Amino acid sequence: MKRGFLNSAKARKQALYPAPLPTAPSQGSASVACPKQQLELAGKPHHGKVENRELPEDHTPSSLPMSDSTMQSNGVYKDHVVKGLTFTTIASDGGPAADNTELLLEAPTKQKIVSSPGFLKPVPKPSDPASYAVRSTPDMGLGCFATRAIEAGEIIFAERPLLVVPRSCRLVNSSQIVARYGIHQGNLIFMAEWEKVLEVVVARMTEENRTAFMALANNHKEDGSGPILGIVRTNAYSTDKFFDGPVRLANDENMYSSILKIGSRINHSCRPNVTYDFDLASFSYIFKAEKDIAAGEQLFYSYCKINVPVSVRKSQLAPYGIVCKCLSCINATPASDKIRMEFENRIDDTVKWIMNPRANIHHALKLRQDLIDEGLEGQRTYACCLYAISMMYKVMGEPIKRQIFQDEFNKYNRLAKLRD
Ligand SMILES: [Zn+2]
Repeated sequence: MKRGFLNSAKARKQALYPAPLPTAPSQGSASVACPKQQLELAGKPHHGKVENRELPEDHTPSSLPMSDSTMQSNGVYKDHVVKGLTFTTIASDGGPAADNTELLLEAPTKQKIVSSPGFLKPVPKPSDPASYAVRSTPDMGLGCFATRAIEAGEIIFAERPLLVVPRSCRLVNSSQIVARYGIHQGNLIFMAEWEKVLEVVVARMTEENRTAFMALANNHKEDGSGPILGIVRTNAYSTDKFFDGPVRLANDENMYSSILKIGSRINHSCRPNVTYDFDLASFSYIFKAEKDIAAGEQLFYSYCKINVPVSVRKSQLAPYGIVCKCLSCINATPASDKIRMEFENRIDDTVKWIMNPRANIHHALKLRQDLIDEGLEGQRTYACCLYAISMMYKVMGEPIKRQIFQDEFNKYNRLAKLRD
């Protein structure tokens, strides 16, 4: 896809960038934040084509110290703390270097991760035989494709992120920068300063992982993002399994972005056939089929909400630089928008339906068909609907039909987990 994620036995890391001398940030420039002073970008970072991308002439980019160039016995760089944020590595003892993750995060958050129960388990094994391959697409760059039939609920692959960084740029003196340069140039400075921070994270990667990271798509080449920030913005996954502080903030400001080697190659569709879970104990993203996938089909994940009309999906995809051409976008109508906006509420009538199944079975069958038409069989509502239909046929004394929908429910319930 265009957004978007590595192994070599004991590969020795080589810094992509020469380690600069540890100097103090230049006057007037931003630096990495102290935890108590975190500030997000003033306004959202630019996207699309930004005509004026020149930094102010009087702004001097910061210089960040590279981590200690010496490595620990396990071949990874030592932790490196800069003003409250820790550059660190998650690596299994004796595990493949390709499974290493480089992180930039608050020290208490790292502590929460490494002290979680069962940490650090091996990455779960994918299905056998392998069920996917990364290949070129005509119009989406690289993509992931099924190499055999995959059944709903099946694990396709699992992997540790290449890199984990804060979701928001964290700079201590953003308000002064905005006051001095205005929001437009202020944002350009924030993005340039954050790029300097990200360079240190990327320089700590194994050569193999760094090559995989830098090969990912970048849809942010004309908005002021540096090459690393552009890749992060294009390819990031998130998880609510770890964040700074005791609770997840409504604006997701305390969340983190993960960039994956394979997962980040999965392209977008509003008709997704793949979903993922993040497993903290193995620190890995586990990708599963959320509907039956035929051999040769491309794997898709939805980068936008799926319960909104096409116009809203379009605006949510714009920051990724994506113009979706899925069947649901190309053939969108007021009726299909209505299905998307209302399907989650329609299942609320389940109890009423089961009370009087003969009068209502058509409602449930119509909901199921609408979800199929929109390619939304992976939604929890679909499994709920299958269960309701099977119950209605049971009440109606039609055991054969009941069993058909019960069997389909059992398959989709692997994902929905409505009951044991
Ligand atoms: Zn679409």
